[in-house]
Amino acid sequence: MCKKVKLTHLIFVDDLMIFYKGNLATVNRVMEALSHFSAATSLEANMEKSSVFLAGIADDTRNQIIKRTGFAIGEFPIKYLGLPLSPKKWRKIDCWSLIDKITQRIKEVDKICRSYLWGSSDEEKKKVALVSWDKVCHPKRLGGLNIKGSNTWNITSMGQLIWQIIENKEALWVKWVHGIYLKDESSIWNHKVPIECSWYWRKLNAIKYQMQEWYCQGKYKLTQSGKYSITRSYHALLGHRPHMKIADLIWTDVALPKHRFMVWLAVQGRLLTQERKLRLHIPVEDSDCCLCDEQTMETTVHLFEECSWTKSVWQELMKWAGITWTNNGIKQVLECIKVKHWKQFQTEVVAAISGAILYHTWRARNWKKFNRKSVHREEVVTQIKKELIERLYFLSKSKKARNCSFFIQHLQCI
Ligand SMILES: [Zn+2]
Repeated sequence: MCKKVKLTHLIFVDDLMIFYKGNLATVNRVMEALSHFSAATSLEANMEKSSVFLAGIADDTRNQIIKRTGFAIGEFPIKYLGLPLSPKKWRKIDCWSLIDKITQRIKEVDKICRSYLWGSSDEEKKKVALVSWDKVCHPKRLGGLNIKGSNTWNITSMGQLIWQIIENKEALWVKWVHGIYLKDESSIWNHKVPIECSWYWRKLNAIKYQMQEWYCQGKYKLTQSGKYSITRSYHALLGHRPHMKIADLIWTDVALPKHRFMVWLAVQGRLLTQERKLRLHIPVEDSDCCLCDEQTMETTVHLFEECSWTKSVWQELMKWAGITWTNNGIKQVLECIKVKHWKQFQTEVVAAISGAILYHTWRARNWKKFNRKSVHREEVVTQIKKELIERLYFLSKSKKARNCSFFIQHLQCI
């Protein structure tokens, strides 16, 4: 095979492998080339880290080669780039632990991400997944959290191998695949996997049917320089989803990260209010709002818009921002802010204030519900002002804040 692909050497960083015929004349030529290289660059092979591997030659030739090179005799298998390297075909036992580790890891990555986001996957302590995993895996501008779903990511990464086999015939491993597995066939799609083949070839062929239509209709994406793009292809494979117009206001860097996440949940109506719990058949002790004395069911609309507790916090903070505005729900508020002809930074500041009110309302509700402690509205107003002023101080040097200094000074002075 080396002859067929004209393989004479492989280089990876400072590792060099040279392949040569098992006779002294060839070894002499290789050693001469190495001395020329050393003379020109002053770089020399590290004798302690260099080995010569010999096979299928007579003892006297063997001794001559060892003497000529001065390298120690190497024995297979060796480890190269963390993987076992052997001239023989890998047995299952040689590679099983590695394959097992990787496949387990892929399955576990999604599980770990899910547990991190929604709580333990342990049945007893299991929490409700507030947003579907499919949606979480979309980019933020499409309403997701931009977490990569490892299964889909794996398929798109395999897509790169298929692309290389079909398009990029210059790569060494692709030449090898065409020379061995596909030597009598025109395309990988009709190829039948031989009984004797490597693990990766079997897996690649098993997954190719899932990708055939997607790939053949050219739905995969390339980079500007014409190479396969895993990220773009991943997004193409996720499919179409409407653009979330207020995504930039949800994820604005003016808001604190914990506020952003809460707003993301709230615009989708996914916060677990008492009313929503009842709809999901989760038992609740008391379904009334705990922030006011109105004895009204705790719905999203009541808690975040109509509750007298929330209303007074909202009015106080809007007065501070110099805005007369009715709170008609976080999603609608952000949509209204979006179409206002304000400077971008002012838009983001008002969005951040709205997000902070939502976050602190939910927090006050949880303190009351789970710790039986009341949070005073004045405390919350002061806390939000303090958080925002700190944030503005931090961001005041940024480009977008510079042309909005009048508004910032207005907030800082009150
Ligand atoms: Zn209330």
